[in-house]
Amino acid sequence: MKVGILGAGMSGLSCAFFLKQNGIGFEVLESENEYGGLCQSIRNDKGFTFDKAGGHIFFTKDTEVKKLVNSLVKNLLTVRRNTKILFKGRFVKYPFENGLADLSPEDNYECLLEFIRTLNEKYEKSKTFRDWIYQTFGKGIAERYMIPYNTKIWNCPPETMDTFWVDGRVPKPPVEDIIKSAIGISTEGYTHQLNFQYPETGGYQSVPEAFYEQVKDKVLFNYKVQKVEQQDGKWIVSDGKTEKVYDEIISTMPIFALQNAMTLPVKVNDAISKLKYNSIIMVLLGFDYPEPTDMHWLYIPEMSTPTHRLIYLKNYTLKSSPDGKTSIISEITFNEGDEISKLSDKQVVENIVNDLHDRKLIDKTKLSYSRVCRTKYAYVVYDLNYTNSIKIVNDYCESLPLYLCGRFAQFVYINSDGCIVNAKQVTDKLLSTKNIMPKPLQEINSIL
Ligand SMILES: Cc1cc2nc3c(=O)[nH]c(=O)nc-3n(C[C@H](O)[C@H](O)[C@H](O)COP(=O)(O)OP(=O)(O)OC[C@H]3O[C@@H](n4cnc5c(N)ncnc54)[C@H](O)[C@@H]3O)c2cc1C
Repeated sequence: MKVGILGAGMSGLSCAFFLKQNGIGFEVLESENEYGGLCQSIRNDKGFTFDKAGGHIFFTKDTEVKKLVNSLVKNLLTVRRNTKILFKGRFVKYPFENGLADLSPEDNYECLLEFIRTLNEKYEKSKTFRDWIYQTFGKGIAERYMIPYNTKIWNCPPETMDTFWVDGRVPKPPVEDIIKSAIGISTEGYTHQLNFQYPETGGYQSVPEAFYEQVKDKVLFNYKVQKVEQQDGKWIVSDGKTEKVYDEIISTMPIFALQNAMTLPVKVNDAISKLKYNSIIMVLLGFDYPEPTDMHWLYIPEMSTPTHRLIYLKNYTLKSSPDGKTSIISEITFNEGDEISKLSDKQVVENIVNDLHDRKLIDKTKLSYSRVCRTKYAYVVYDLNYTNSIKIVNDYCESLPLYLCGRFAQFVYINSDGCIVNAKQVTDKLLSTKNIMPKPLQEINSIL
């Protein structure tokens, strides 16, 4: 059996790794001349290393995935999160509900009071993300942080978004924690991400690199999949020049790339066309001064600045910039047609540098490096059409079967650890249809 894997990001490389562990033949087809997809980094450009598609850290709730990544990636540092939110010029501890004592007494009081009011309300199950925010945190926290920040990062009003992805996953904060937070007794909030890992050198791309090293003889670069079709029980894949034949296909490339490559029923085409996503601009800046903060990242909910998050990579690893220098990354979510999408890279840098300088977050007179990276498919947006549309797509792919794996292939909001989890599930499912018993991850880990 030979499996064609479309895309060499975290998902494609993980699928390849698991098939190899089970002794199954495969080939990975990648359109770019580089592996890693969204986990790619710009390495050592004038001494600076940056992640290209958003600030990345490794954390997972899955202990076997953590073991796997830690045995393959040799240079992971473990770092304790120190993250803040910039609110009315104050640096508020993250998550916001755990940092109420950092607010002015008036803001603190209103956040506390409005949270306590939610405890006496009998709500119907919230239908939109906006309702969920108000019901979970109360008006004070909602209007100061949750609504503006989420409007910025999702680039759409929270009332147009579904709740299934937060409901149950983000619990209502215990009243004890909110009271402690308001009077200044330390509480941590989301502890699963309290300690994260990051490669000492090479940026986050060192994570997919470790998987790539295991399968590299079977990865074909510069192969842009343009046609995928089923013929006589086989899959034919083409880049317009060379045809490939496989017994099974796992697609990890964005669902829109698959849509372009296949002739799909109208209903499936329509469903894919309704799926919403956001793009991201990363403004990478280097400075001729030592790192002035001890933060890892800073959320900026204020609507008056385009940046929604700043990343301080020097505090992840000292090797991300030369001695005596530091860097900062500004992340901006956008959609095609937004004002920022019409600006040249030079104009984007000018706007962001001036804005951050005016807010005293950088000193622009010491700027020595700048670069802009734009990523089209960055965030899956769970709008109110999502559940219907994705079901139509999944039902169709399962009927073929064509296996989907990954953030934009499955169209799910997963991180790189989720790509590994899903790659294991998808390859297990594929093997089980061939009556092959897949090796459990514990067994794979025990021999690495
Ligand atoms: C802003 C941001 C912040 C993030 N932060 C984190 C974080 O902190 N921690 C974390 O773990 N994860 C984070 N993630 C998520 C992580 O980047 C993704 O979950 C992961 O990289 C997705 O991998 P993938 O292989 O599914 O998809 P991709 O990385 O998109 O890989 C798909 C691959 O398919 C290739 N391809 C596309 N079209 C074709 C074609 N026609 N033919 C052949 N190949 C094709 C692409 O070039 C790419 O290599 C973040 C993502 C973003 C955008």
